[in-house]
Amino acid sequence: MQNQNDIVNEGTILRILEETKKPKAESVFSVLKKAEEKKGLALRDAGILLHAQGAELKEALYRAAGNIKDEIYGERIVFFAPLYVSDFCVNNCLYCNFHTENKGLHRRKLALEEVERQTELLIDMGHKRLLLEFGEDPLHNDIEYVVKVIERIYSVKQAKGNIRRLNVNIAATTVKNYRKLKQAQIGTYQLFQETYHRKTYEALHPCGPKADYQRQLTAHLRAFEAGIDDLGIGVLFGLYDWKFEVLALLQHAQYLDNVLGVGPHTISVPRFCPAPSVSYKPEYAVSDDDFLKLIAILRLAVPYTGMIISTRETPEIRKEAFKIGISQASAASVASPGGYGSSAKDEAQFELHDQRPLAEVIKGVVEDKMLPSFCTACYRRGRTGEAFMELSKPGEIHTFCRSNGLLTFAEYLEDFGNGLYKKGYETIELYLNQIEDEGLRRKTQERLEKIKQGARDLYF
Ligand code: SAM
Ligand code: SF4
Repeated sequence: MQNQNDIVNEGTILRILEETKKPKAESVFSVLKKAEEKKGLALRDAGILLHAQGAELKEALYRAAGNIKDEIYGERIVFFAPLYVSDFCVNNCLYCNFHTENKGLHRRKLALEEVERQTELLIDMGHKRLLLEFGEDPLHNDIEYVVKVIERIYSVKQAKGNIRRLNVNIAATTVKNYRKLKQAQIGTYQLFQETYHRKTYEALHPCGPKADYQRQLTAHLRAFEAGIDDLGIGVLFGLYDWKFEVLALLQHAQYLDNVLGVGPHTISVPRFCPAPSVSYKPEYAVSDDDFLKLIAILRLAVPYTGMIISTRETPEIRKEAFKIGISQASAASVASPGGYGSSAKDEAQFELHDQRPLAEVIKGVVEDKMLPSFCTACYRRGRTGEAFMELSKPGEIHTFCRSNGLLTFAEYLEDFGNGLYKKGYETIELYLNQIEDEGLRRKTQERLEKIKQGARDLYF
């Protein structure tokens, strides 16, 4: 068993960043060649890519990342929405509008009836998977409340469907509490380190339980011990040097893989956004160019880990990011408790830069020849953690995913896709014909017919 202090080693990261500072073009091309094998990259290889400069290398990097994305994830983008449940928080993260010293914020914690109402609104938009968001507050947001919220959401059944997968983003907690989340049947447990740079972390989290860097860093190990094997990690880009953060993310991912036998299920790449009560200005703001570059590098370095982008990013950036690595995206989000169906935007956690309704996001994706997916099959078939990786590494998951993506998109078109119906079914036809296995193609086609006739929730 590796020592927990080895999860992130700043000395190693700084040394690699120094040694890879001015890579020769041939070293960059040789790393890109190695990445084609889809076995991931060593930290040093990633360091070389982080420092690659110039239009030609950038183009080669994006091409390589785009190819890996196509081979492993195909044409699909899986959509979800965040659901903010409570903004009560005892922490004082300097970048967040919910920080405890923000006395001007009219705090809200949703009653279960309100949770139900928000869920209905999300189902009626077309969503099938949600990410639950809570501030950290042992009194207001205790684990029993969190579990009741989860149970209530799963219990909501509408004419146009229900929520089939709930991922959860709550503060680091104990094995005992994670067990309760596991029993409540959550999908992925997500927690971001925010910054892996300890000094910066300590400066930006001055008080409250989140001030403990190690508690945050070891949270996924406790969640795993409690039986949660789909784990999400992430960095809030802008707090510290993005090159450092990328290598630290990779160290964290490698550690989880070595110790737990399964790497992170997802990596999220939130970038700092301005927020109403936040005077903090990110010292290490990440440019659009560097942001896309880091997505491409992560894609090559951990090819089988899903990558998530949010509506913190503009439609233009999201469009580019979809091509070079992102496999999941939030859409039509609001970032405040009770915010769906309301106009109280000043209560949000931060500014959102893609405010398009779901239908418009889906239309854009279809126009770009991609397939929107609302699939929740793996988790419901028990394909999580190691079982998921065993299938995904030889590329088998790709087979299921395409079929399931087609089925969930057909459901969307039948229930919500008025203006998109014809174009949407052209996309379905296009990718149905690309299913190589004849048996699976036939079965998928049969199920598509059943969906047209009113059947729902069919999956492989
Ligand atoms: N309160 C929990 C926590 O901090 O882990 C979970 C949810 S919090 C609502 C989700 C994430 O929002 C945080 O982990 C942080 O990375 C991100 N966030 C906070 N302030 C932000 C800002 N100003 N811009 C972009 N993302 C921000
Ligand atoms: Fe609270 Fe999370 Fe905001 Fe920090 S980021 S103040 S823990 S809600």
